[in-house]
Amino acid sequence: MKKVTILLPAYNEEQSFGLIRECMSQVLRDNPGYEWEFLLVNDGSTDHTLQQMIRLHSEDPRYSYIDLSRNYGKEIAMMAGFDYAQGDALIIMDSDMQHPVDVIPEMLRWWEEGYDDVYAERQGSKETWFKRRTSQWYYGLLQSLTRIPIQKNTGDFRLLDRSCIEALKRMRETERNTKGMYSWIGFRKKGITYIQKERQEGETKWSTSSLLNLAMNGIMSYTTAPLRIASIIGLLVSVVAFLYLIYIFATTMIYGDPVAGYPTIMVTMLFLGGVQLLGLGIIGEYLGRVFNEVKNRPGYFINSYNGERR
Ligand code: UDP
Ligand code: MG
Repeated sequence: MKKVTILLPAYNEEQSFGLIRECMSQVLRDNPGYEWEFLLVNDGSTDHTLQQMIRLHSEDPRYSYIDLSRNYGKEIAMMAGFDYAQGDALIIMDSDMQHPVDVIPEMLRWWEEGYDDVYAERQGSKETWFKRRTSQWYYGLLQSLTRIPIQKNTGDFRLLDRSCIEALKRMRETERNTKGMYSWIGFRKKGITYIQKERQEGETKWSTSSLLNLAMNGIMSYTTAPLRIASIIGLLVSVVAFLYLIYIFATTMIYGDPVAGYPTIMVTMLFLGGVQLLGLGIIGEYLGRVFNEVKNRPGYFINSYNGERR
């Protein structure tokens, strides 16, 4: 029998465990042809999430858990999950159960058909007009910067074949943008749609600033295009400056224009100063990433796996 792992990263989700148990029982009922592993990752929660995991594991050995040494963020929590998952396939879900388990049979069907990455595309979510617009615009921008196809309205909710997991396991960077990685590794992909549920328990861990951070991270880890853009802006500014130089030279020669240039000098200096700082900032962003990766630290440490220290 094929084994399938469901990966559930959790940060302060103690209230969601009733729901998790319910949904996982439904998975067991709906898909009897598989062996199941439910892999919970405690991402340094400060509430009773770990206690809940220990309880589930002791009641039903199909539940395993990894207890990370601190809060690393969902991306790293998933990385730990990839390392410990035992299934022939892996389904990533949010612990708040916003992802419906009813689409799992469909995912499994496509997997059996030979697809390696069955990703679920969000449909008709209740986000505000503004949020939808900005995310649309952002994806458009991102796609124009890279030739890796970007999947819209798609998150981590997907089924990955073992081949994808092994590929992802080899990508050890710690500044992770897992969404970009799914696209990067390629393999046979298949999109299905689902309707996102409202969060039932607890609250979202994303603030606007962390979303903004994620957006920046997305661009920076996908592509080095901003560096190219900085060079292009630099080139354009130089060309314009050169043309302006010729113009000033000519007018001075023809009309004998006396020195009068305070405003132009100020404007040019400020403008160029801004452009230079922008360019430096972009270089800095990448350099910061290089700094973090070059230290080559392990992505995470764990307190225990199923209660055992390692
Ligand atoms: N999560 C995590 N570590 C974090 C933040 C979040 O493992 O530092 C988990 C969280 O428990 C949930 C998933 O990531 O299972 C998605 O988080 P959330 O529901 O807060 O995000 P949203 O659904 O609002 O995008
Ligand atoms: Mg959520």
